[in-house]
Amino acid sequence: MGLPIPNLSEELVGRLSAKILKTDDCWIWTGAKTCGYGIIKISRKTFRCTRLVVFLTSGVDPGDKLVLHSCDNPSCCRPDHLRIGTYLENAQDAKSRGRNNFGTRNHFAKLSSEDVLAIRRDATTKSREELCQLYSMSPRNFRRIIHGKGWVSLLGNGEPPK
Ligand SMILES: [Zn+2]
Repeated sequence: MGLPIPNLSEELVGRLSAKILKTDDCWIWTGAKTCGYGIIKISRKTFRCTRLVVFLTSGVDPGDKLVLHSCDNPSCCRPDHLRIGTYLENAQDAKSRGRNNFGTRNHFAKLSSEDVLAIRRDATTKSREELCQLYSMSPRNFRRIIHGKGWVSLLGNGEPPK
């Protein structure tokens, strides 16, 4: 679901590393976050920091895959805590750790009402690919959020779903 990662300028790399707080264990992103995941804008597009870190350190653009955390800390940007994986692997990881982000019922437990409203608001300016990447959503879950299934109680608050 990821947007292709563009050439990363030195300025951008500097901006990225300035926001990472290195502890003995995790390297914590201290900048803007979405659902706990660090994000940064490049040419008006929003990228997850972990994807950029993977790209910078391995040269591999995660592309359609996700970047998974071995430390289970979404804001961590430490290269050796990150690996490229699939939605399925992420779901299995989550299950083995007792959380379940991608279960059909429990997926939404991860997203707060504010997140859902933010996704709906962002949907007017960001592409579906961008949103799926930002919120670690499959396209199916994206459609459910946009169309309000499972979030009926919020329909009165935000923009009406399209
Ligand atoms: Zn970590």
